[in-house]
Amino acid sequence: MDLGLRNRVALVTASSRGIGLGIARVLAQEGARVIINARHDDELAKARETITKESGAEVLAVKADLTVKDDVNRLVKESMDTFGNIDILVFNAGPPKPGTFSQLNEDDWEYATRLLLLSAVWLTRRIVDNMVSRGWGRLIYVTSLTLRQQVPNLVLSNTVRLSLAGLVKSLAIEYGPHGITANGIMQGYIATERINQLAQEEARTRGISVDEVIKAWSREIPTGRYGKPEEVGYLVAFLAGDKAAYINGSMILIDGGYVKCVS
Ligand code: NAD
Repeated sequence: MDLGLRNRVALVTASSRGIGLGIARVLAQEGARVIINARHDDELAKARETITKESGAEVLAVKADLTVKDDVNRLVKESMDTFGNIDILVFNAGPPKPGTFSQLNEDDWEYATRLLLLSAVWLTRRIVDNMVSRGWGRLIYVTSLTLRQQVPNLVLSNTVRLSLAGLVKSLAIEYGPHGITANGIMQGYIATERINQLAQEEARTRGISVDEVIKAWSREIPTGRYGKPEEVGYLVAFLAGDKAAYINGSMILIDGGYVKCVS
């Protein structure tokens, strides 16, 4: 099946490793031109090399911190200057600080709001008019299973990310008539550095080994394993393509069956 991604321009934020990199790799393999972004030049250069080597795609790497508005402005400007437009925005963010309510302070809340919500708003505001003028666009927001099943140690994710579901629905209603779809992804456990960090935290708190934590978490997943970053990428690639034109305003779980409730 041809998804129609050849020569489309995709901006994938927070993509020097983990889920974001997995998404950027798959989009590039499908023929898209890709903009990757993160805060560190060395990681970005490595990611760019990986993508170009395996796909031959055009890749622009832009160092920018998503929590800083000027950086977001520059990220969009450099992308537009290089490719002329952005067809696909895949909003992914770095992980918020783990912690329970009593462990977090007000600076943590403000930072998480910039990281998980405001950066998505800033990016969308700077990109969507260009999509409207061309009558085609894809807005895809990578969130978390915490929208469906809250995790005790991830209060910032449990709370701030919920707003993305409202953003997705609102954008779907407003921009659907312009050929633009907006959807969100709620991924469960995906094997990345972030998940290793969380496993280490849990191991410390419970006084058990990281291996035991990972085995225990895997037992809760009906497919018996963590997902791979590129498996999130396959879902994003479908949503980003022409075949997904009727999927609009959806929040889609990809979690191996981890979340047990219906809605
Ligand atoms: P990761 O730590 O492996 O990768 C995060 C990426 O974000 C890196 O490229 C990093 O450089 C970049 N980044 C971090 N802060 C940034 C910032 N301020 N500006 C720009 N780039 C920044 O994380 P991951 O596991 O790939 O997770 C990606 C997102 O998905 C996170 O928000 C995470 O909380 C969420 N999530 C992950 C899982 C999982 O199982 N891995 C599950 C649910 C939700």
